[in-house]
Amino acid sequence: MNLGEAGLKNHIRTIGLFNSKARNIIKTCTTLLEQHRGEVPHTREALEALPGVGRKTANVMLNTAFGEPTIAVDTHIFRVANRTGLACGKTVASVETALLKAVPDEFKHDAHHWLILHGRYTCIARKPRCNLCIINDLCKYHALEHATTTKTAAASISKAKKSGKQQQKISLTIRKKME
Ligand code: SF4
Repeated sequence: MNLGEAGLKNHIRTIGLFNSKARNIIKTCTTLLEQHRGEVPHTREALEALPGVGRKTANVMLNTAFGEPTIAVDTHIFRVANRTGLACGKTVASVETALLKAVPDEFKHDAHHWLILHGRYTCIARKPRCNLCIINDLCKYHALEHATTTKTAAASISKAKKSGKQQQKISLTIRKKME
């Protein structure tokens, strides 16, 4: 607190969004002192009421600091859960719910760390490193990709049939893509 917002910025300026992070940290510290006797609260509601704290950060706190069986879903976990087929969903909330069902209780404490690290270093966003992946034999990524491609191709062929003139051209293009 003695550093103040400007002083804190000098210490964290190498990380992304350091301006807003410094602002939120100072505001959060003030709230903790004024409303929680300087302690981090244990409930989701109180955590999410702190500046800059959303569901993901609250889940991390509940899991890491208080040992609760929560799983925080960030961009890496969202991608890995969907690619592998471990917990498919279109929203962060649906992936979180599916992960809580899929991950056995004894692994919930560390699951989000493992999934984040796997997403950051192996199942990377642009091009997953499947040849180095230790769960290659369990992952449904290629099966799901193939199903999506087949579905897209079938939809395109159907559309082409309807339009008549474009049929041959689109079918040839799709066939080339599938080869
Ligand atoms: S096999 Fe590939 S897509 Fe599946 S988890 Fe591993 S890196 Fe990701």
